[in-house]
Amino acid sequence: MKGFTVKLSILNSTGPNRFDQRLHDVNTDQFNGLSIRTVQVNIGLKCNLACHHCHVESSPTRVEEMTWETMELVLAAAEKAGAKTIDITGGAPEMNPHFRRFVNAALDKGYEVMVRTNLTIMLEEGYTDLPEFFANRRVHLIASLPCYLETNVDRQRGKHVYQESVEVIQRLNALGYGSRDELPLDLVYNPGGPSIPPEQSALEAAYRKELGGHFGIRFTRLYTITNLPIGRFQHDLQRQGYADKYQDLLERTFNAATLDELMCRHQLHVGWNGTTYDCDFNYALKMPARAGHIRDFNPAAFLARRIATGNHCFGCTAGCGSSCGGSLVAEEAEMARWAGGAAG
Ligand code: SF4
Ligand code: SF4
Repeated sequence: MKGFTVKLSILNSTGPNRFDQRLHDVNTDQFNGLSIRTVQVNIGLKCNLACHHCHVESSPTRVEEMTWETMELVLAAAEKAGAKTIDITGGAPEMNPHFRRFVNAALDKGYEVMVRTNLTIMLEEGYTDLPEFFANRRVHLIASLPCYLETNVDRQRGKHVYQESVEVIQRLNALGYGSRDELPLDLVYNPGGPSIPPEQSALEAAYRKELGGHFGIRFTRLYTITNLPIGRFQHDLQRQGYADKYQDLLERTFNAATLDELMCRHQLHVGWNGTTYDCDFNYALKMPARAGHIRDFNPAAFLARRIATGNHCFGCTAGCGSSCGGSLVAEEAEMARWAGGAAG
């Protein structure tokens, strides 16, 4: 099993917005929201890690964090929108001082709460009781583990991150995560280089075999996520001379069947200071939604907005598509189709 390889062709990635042109070509000029199932909230940029692929460029030195007042506005907006899920991200969201209060408030209002965790934070002083907190409150955990091989994880995320992640997953497993229905633990894969992810279900089987065989690890689902050419990942691509080739790959594997399920069409994203965005990639690029601050949130106006796009959007529509919840369309036929198109 392997990801698509990069074809050697040069393309200027800094030109006009070719994504909008492609939308026009497939009769999707009206690129607006379709529903608001999820409110995704970035509650701060501080992180105990500083990974190479991090599109929001988090690190231990970042200080931006959401206030409690803004969190209350987010919950009010979620209610207005009729959302079902609050998806909490960062940085390491656990490092926001209001994190547990926010999780509790969202759960008490009846939302499913998802937390995107880097796992290793649960070994840091002041955070070691988080596994029990999460299990007691039945929080849905989505954990980054970009490969089942130690060298690949440590290269992307830092020394010892693999072993630390395994240790934390084992603690979560001991509490029932990954085996009890009410304690889902999903893992997230993203490629280490300029390729789009391999087929999600086949890779999930490989993760289960490797992690289960070596460490007895159990998890609920694997999500494969394409790296968008932004942030630290884009800087790495540029340094290695792969930026144009990667953009070319994403554009050649554009798949119109992904357009209705893109996460920007079904969620509201809120940045740490309350500004609304179409997705966390646009947040990273400082491209706010045409809907202003969360205090002014109006669900109908938000759904009707034209989603802000750029050439980075090809990262979400390549191959089987990519979102915070993994692939967007059925895989076997699509992968065969795009694998053929990307050969050479
Ligand atoms: S990718 Fe995740 S864990 Fe790594 S620095 Fe960024 S926010 Fe932190
Ligand atoms: S980056 Fe992806 S999710 Fe964000 S606006 Fe573009 S297509 Fe939508």
